[in-house]
Amino acid sequence: MGAGLDAPIAELERKLAGSANGFQRLALTPSRWQQYLLARASQDPEFRVRLLRFVDVLPTLRTASAVADHFRQYFRGAAPEPVRTASALASRPVFRPILSQAVRRGVLAMAHRFIAGATPAEALPALRHLAKQGVGHTVDLLGEATLSDAEADAYQARYLALLQTFAADLEEVAPRGERWRGVSPINISVKCSALCPHFEPAAREHVSAVVRERLRPVLRLARQVGAFINFDMEQHRYKDLVHRIFADLILEPEFADVADVGIVVQAYLKDGLSDLGRLETLAKRRGVPFTVRLVKGAYWDEERIVASQNSWPVPVFEEKAETDRSFERCTDALLGAWPHLRPAFGTHNPHSIAQAVAKARSGGIPDPDIEFQMLYGMAEGVRAVVATEGYRTRVYVPVGEIIPGMAYLVRRLLENSSNQAWFQFGLGHAAPASAPEARVKERPAYVESGFRNASPARFFDSEVREHMLSALAKMRGAFGGSYPLLIGERRLSDRPQLEVHCPAEPATVVGRVAQASLADVDAAVAAAREGFPAWRDRPAAERASILRRAADMLEERRYELAAVMVYESAKPWREADSDVAEAIDYLRYYAQEAERYGQPQAMGGVLGEHNEYTYQGRGVAVIIAPWNFPLAIITGMSTAALAAGNAAILKPAEPSRIIAYRLVEILRAAGVPPKVVQYLPGRGDQVGRALVEHPGIDIIAFTGSTGVGQSIITAASHVRPGQRNVKRVIAEMGGKNAIIIDDDADLDEAIAGTVASAFGYAGQKCSACSRLVVVGSAYAEVLERLRHAVASLIVGPPDDPATVVPPVINGAARDKIMRYVEGGKSTSRLLVEGTIPPGPGYYVRPTVFTDVAPDSPIACDEIFGPVLAVFRSRDFDQAIQIAMNSAFALTGGVFSRSPRHIDLARAKFRVGNLYINRKITGAIVGRQPFGGLAMSGTGDKAGGPDYLLQFMEPRVTTENTARRGFAPD
Ligand code: NAD
Repeated sequence: MGAGLDAPIAELERKLAGSANGFQRLALTPSRWQQYLLARASQDPEFRVRLLRFVDVLPTLRTASAVADHFRQYFRGAAPEPVRTASALASRPVFRPILSQAVRRGVLAMAHRFIAGATPAEALPALRHLAKQGVGHTVDLLGEATLSDAEADAYQARYLALLQTFAADLEEVAPRGERWRGVSPINISVKCSALCPHFEPAAREHVSAVVRERLRPVLRLARQVGAFINFDMEQHRYKDLVHRIFADLILEPEFADVADVGIVVQAYLKDGLSDLGRLETLAKRRGVPFTVRLVKGAYWDEERIVASQNSWPVPVFEEKAETDRSFERCTDALLGAWPHLRPAFGTHNPHSIAQAVAKARSGGIPDPDIEFQMLYGMAEGVRAVVATEGYRTRVYVPVGEIIPGMAYLVRRLLENSSNQAWFQFGLGHAAPASAPEARVKERPAYVESGFRNASPARFFDSEVREHMLSALAKMRGAFGGSYPLLIGERRLSDRPQLEVHCPAEPATVVGRVAQASLADVDAAVAAAREGFPAWRDRPAAERASILRRAADMLEERRYELAAVMVYESAKPWREADSDVAEAIDYLRYYAQEAERYGQPQAMGGVLGEHNEYTYQGRGVAVIIAPWNFPLAIITGMSTAALAAGNAAILKPAEPSRIIAYRLVEILRAAGVPPKVVQYLPGRGDQVGRALVEHPGIDIIAFTGSTGVGQSIITAASHVRPGQRNVKRVIAEMGGKNAIIIDDDADLDEAIAGTVASAFGYAGQKCSACSRLVVVGSAYAEVLERLRHAVASLIVGPPDDPATVVPPVINGAARDKIMRYVEGGKSTSRLLVEGTIPPGPGYYVRPTVFTDVAPDSPIACDEIFGPVLAVFRSRDFDQAIQIAMNSAFALTGGVFSRSPRHIDLARAKFRVGNLYINRKITGAIVGRQPFGGLAMSGTGDKAGGPDYLLQFMEPRVTTENTARRGFAPD
């Protein structure tokens, strides 16, 4: 389509753009101020960030002095002059009420420009006004993120109430006129993510069932009152899930004949065109048409951030012009699919509109079959011109409270202050190609040096899901296999076998692993001592390339390895996958670090002397690992030892031996000599202890509980007969980590982050949150939302992708956790206990206590299970004191939007890893080097630039290069 249409397109585009010139983007009172602020924001990126962040936090500020205080914090120093002056006034108490009122009023005025009302009833006048002008609506209900079933139910009730309210006012809200004949008078846009608290793309059957259950009554009522239901599209990772839910629902016999439904296609996505193809096929298969709203897409910034953080390909076009071209290609496809698909175009861009009009007309598509949609509060002039062309226009009208509405408002302000927006440039001027890149910060050093993090699996992609499902099936097929010891060249099976059981199905034997004896310990140490010198003396680059080869092998086998952990250690899909990704990262990161340290450094620089500073491996390392990151931690510790030039004997934890066996196999296959990497499973207090005490051991790399760590440090300090070295102990130990939720925090993020940190992998992470400190006025709301969110957590078997909380590792762990829970019930107030499935797995209910005494066991001990203790603090300073009141100092978290409090936390919340405004688990190699202080560890950061040093010893060689008064330069 499109040949010969240049002239009509250009003409209509001119008309549309002309109308836009007269249109004031924000003609408000006091509009000048807003115009000024947005204009400044579009020129000054730093001010833009501050302004958007301030607008975002404002509605949660509960007092005038909080408003004034935040205003000062955000705009002191770096803001245009009038804003800075106002911020100076904010320091004087007498001005605070008036300043606060003025600021609130200003932001509310901005919000009301884009949001029609807090409730459907409040929005009615706006809809009536639109209807009178012959303009239709589609209403979007703004709301908080859905974190619980209670919140999903509430959302459903709001959709139903919305339909009822509008149905009662049908005459007034329905636009009249010929072009509206046969068109539903009511139109609402639903967000599937609002109807399911665990919107997990990997679990699409589960999510589709839950969302459809809540949507059916909405569709029934819609049919009854004559309403159209549109499925909105959100982030790319949810796109296929929304398509799936839409298809499942409209193919149900009850709804198979409903034509008044629609879905969105986003042209900024690189796969926008194929999405359209898929929808056309669906419509043909169903035999009843539905509508497709073609838009450019509203999550451009977020998509790029998510892709960058996960090392995923960017799903959106990065240049505005490419999106515009994609919109045109999608227009062709959408019009080509008519009448199976009914086209609706959601855009304000004159050229995009003009080309759609011209192509539709030249394609002979009747005007009433096409619709144009625009956002409430934007582009009124353009809309009027489209209407005069004879087309139906519809406005996307957000309705909702101001706090949850802020995310929407910020998106609109982003657009209005963007130097990419077409109205900033006028017709015919392309947006500058460099603009988006200008906002990307300089790449950090570790990226420059060539290291890249492995990407987490894209489980939203069906192909990836299939890989995982088939790996799980294959692993089940391999249940019951035997795993020998690997000592030097020997594979030893004639030892007592220990059965490994599945925590979700304790009767199932995953495998049988040979147990090392004390004689095996001697044999392994002797072999390692033999293998060590040659390995130490190989160039660092050779060792590094072997480890990189192993990383590639892990990557090729990532689903197989993840499947082992699903059954052996009850890791849910995502957790198992990130474990593999972390292991891959360690291999590549330490390979690179070994090369860095492998370069001799010249010291001094005086004439006649050459000083060379080099590192060498220390000797034989024993790797004593925990079970909770079954692959990542053992890989990290052992490959650091190997990269630095040591031999390594791997002593895995009892519950995670099979995965450790697979690792040793891979390391050997990649080229590590058998004497240099050995597999020696056995009981910690026997084999582990014997290795620690062995005179032939030089390094002990331990990760595990603080009690065992301390006993190892003590045991290693005794020198035994035959010992030739002072043992080096690297010990990473337990935690009792706290998150602080400040009274201005974004509670959607804070609750989701706390729940993920406390209950992911059933709380069995050293980094897990087990204490929550809530500041003052946020307390009641936090408790209410937390209670529902925890009650809605899906506890189940780890091979089900819907599971969030799997069983704990074994019966002993369950019993120990339950003793704490019982103790907690008698000393604290039980806020909530989640539900567990029936059956034999080692399930523990996710549990939250409040009113916890600061010195009680649930406040102080590492429980290592899904148990959270909540504390209330008077203010932020006290919150930090509570958080720091622990013998441990591993991780900590703060959710706050006060720059001053964030600075305070940076200075005073002294833990090994502090996380601000995100969950506290999930450290990434090279980005968040990980390790604790105090009783949490010896302070060495795994995955960081100093870690390898623990495994090496430095040497200095000095040569006098002067001979008879002559020296080379
Ligand atoms: P654990 O201390 O029981 O066991 C850890 C390892 O030590 C196992 O391999 C075990 O066999 C071995 N072991 C036990 N007794 C021994 C002894 N006397 N001599 C030598 N070795 C011995 O810990 P776990 O249950 O496997 O793991 C959970 C613990 O690990 C938690 O406390 C958690 O916080 C901690 N952890 C810390 C980090 C970190 O980076 N700081 C990471 C993961 C786990």
